[in-house]
Amino acid sequence: MGAAPRALVIGGSLGGLFAANLLLRQGWDVEVFEQSARPLAGRGAGIVTHPDLFAALGRLGIDINVSGGIGVDIECRVTFDREGRELGRLAIPQCLTTWGRLHSLLLAAFPAGRHHLGHACTAVEQDAAGVTAVFANGHRTRGDLLVAADGIRSAVRAQFAPAVQPRYAGYIAWRGLVEEGALSAATRRDLFPRLAFSLPPAEHMVGYPVAGFDNSVREGERCFNFVWYRPAPADGPSAALPELCTDIEGRRHEMAIPPPLIRPQVIAAMREAARACLSPQFVEVVEKTPQPFLQAIFDLESEVMHFGRVALLGDAAFVARPHVGMGVSKAAGDALALAAALARDPTDPVAGLRDYAAQRLRFGRTVIAHARALGAYLEACAQGREDAGLRSRLHTPQAVMRDIAVTCDF
Ligand SMILES: Cc1cc2nc3c(=O)[nH]c(=O)nc-3n(C[C@H](O)[C@H](O)[C@H](O)COP(=O)(O)OP(=O)(O)OC[C@H]3O[C@@H](n4cnc5c(N)ncnc54)[C@H](O)[C@@H]3O)c2cc1C
Repeated sequence: MGAAPRALVIGGSLGGLFAANLLLRQGWDVEVFEQSARPLAGRGAGIVTHPDLFAALGRLGIDINVSGGIGVDIECRVTFDREGRELGRLAIPQCLTTWGRLHSLLLAAFPAGRHHLGHACTAVEQDAAGVTAVFANGHRTRGDLLVAADGIRSAVRAQFAPAVQPRYAGYIAWRGLVEEGALSAATRRDLFPRLAFSLPPAEHMVGYPVAGFDNSVREGERCFNFVWYRPAPADGPSAALPELCTDIEGRRHEMAIPPPLIRPQVIAAMREAARACLSPQFVEVVEKTPQPFLQAIFDLESEVMHFGRVALLGDAAFVARPHVGMGVSKAAGDALALAAALARDPTDPVAGLRDYAAQRLRFGRTVIAHARALGAYLEACAQGREDAGLRSRLHTPQAVMRDIAVTCDF
């Protein structure tokens, strides 16, 4: 190993940038390789924050108070009935941000010359002395360790642990962002600044204010982010997923469809369903969201998080259903744990990765199990079982306001 140990980070989203920034500040020679040829900025929607996220930003010295703060602070949660009346309220202060805001902060903190777009990693080779990443564009590069932060469909994980596959939970989430200024005064009054729910049978809508498209958190310039869970079986007589994932040219996408390719009739049917079952505040949100998008809900659980000099991090290792709101904070926590484990003895990255994996496997499993338990009612509904026991335990205003996306001491 030379003067500075060298880390190759595959994936330039939040997990990759957290790890890359932390290792760089720890004296590592770090490069990030992102498959997308275009900058990732401008994509994404709302993110719930938890302490690990702030701990990682703090460790990087990123000033989260710059230009008005990292997100929108809320004081309470509220649930509305079909007529728009308040069914309950619970005081839980929280800060809600956006993927774009976090990505721009992390990218700005990382040297541009070390961040490479258009590099899709296709293979990893390793021996006793190092690890080599091989890219689709013909580039090869060698390092002392490789961090696979390449998401739920990780090519690196596929090479080392091909049996680990995402498992579809049977339901999807419609998501989107609408500008605060587009909403009526009555809806703004009810939804800002709160985390709000609407809970028709077998459906679960949650929404919250976030920074606006220009990252402003000033009143009148924010956005409202929604996540609307709906059963959508992948197969069988009531299979809805194939229809949802068939694009404007009739092509069938497996589990994810680029937002501009969603058929207008699918969006019209979704808005019609909103009118039929959601509280009027959310009907308006859904109606006025210019580009709703679709996310199939998965569980992904790894058995192993390191393979010699290769570590899985973030969504490449574990994906929890969004009910815990932990995707980004978990990736930040992984990056913190990785940096701490490697700091103990930078000359022995393999031992560091072993420690990292032992710690984060436990955490990942716990988060996945908790998120799966929170989604059990929706999963049963997707299987055609509207379970009264699960409904009374998981699908009441009190239960969702208490349990959804709260900070847990895992
Ligand atoms: C553009 C974008 C927008 C998102 N928006 C939201 C959001 O609004 N709300 C939310 O809760 N979560 C969002 N997520 C997911 C969220 O970032 C993750 O759940 C969490 O932060 C963990 O991130 P990750 O970096 O581990 O994985 P991901 O965010 O999935 O990132 C994986 C990255 O690896 C890249 N990649 C994949 N394969 C390869 C390869 N072979 N070689 C090189 N690079 C590769 C991908 O292009 C991607 O940039 C978004 C992800 C992306 C990529």
